[in-house]
Amino acid sequence: MAPGRLACAVVSELPAPGTVRPVTRWGEPVMHRTLQPVTAFDDELATLVADMVATMYAAEGVGLAASQIGVDRALFVFDCPDDDHVRHSGVVCNPRLTLPSGDDRNLDDADEGCLSFPGAFVPCPRPDWARVDGVDQAGAPVSHEGTGLLARCLQHETDHVYGTVFGDRISTKARRRLAEAQEASAHEFPPDWPVGISAEPHEGDSV
Ligand SMILES: [Zn+2]
Repeated sequence: MAPGRLACAVVSELPAPGTVRPVTRWGEPVMHRTLQPVTAFDDELATLVADMVATMYAAEGVGLAASQIGVDRALFVFDCPDDDHVRHSGVVCNPRLTLPSGDDRNLDDADEGCLSFPGAFVPCPRPDWARVDGVDQAGAPVSHEGTGLLARCLQHETDHVYGTVFGDRISTKARRRLAEAQEASAHEFPPDWPVGISAEPHEGDSV
């Protein structure tokens, strides 16, 4: 996901960044299908996670799914603030999303952006709280929950794992506005973006 403002530093659960890879765009088949479950928690997975972390930071995102660097594996990484500006970060393989229901369900229609459709943001209504359960890159159970941009990020990244992009969740009119905004900034995002950009943790808002 693409970000906004970060505040308090929090000890990161993420591994050191690996190699920055080009971000895969909407339209590539891997972006639009359910990804294969992670079953091997080995060196290959560790390298993939490190490269995802590097690519997320280089692209100034707050979250990144494996499909966004063209890999068909059901996992994402994130480093994202909640509504209280507290940063949360982690690796989630085989995510399962829990959302509020009934009276607890409140929609937040803040702007949303996606690194795989870079340079464009439109409002996307989503529940203002979410929890994701899964396992980390070592296969240990993890659970992350929260509010604000974090809630949006957890939903956006889990969507990627199941082949949904946020353009699928907005009206045709909003999708058209999103496409126009992306077109206007396309020159800032060459095909190999963000290769060549330093992979430092940022202060920012895209997923
Ligand atoms: Zn995205």
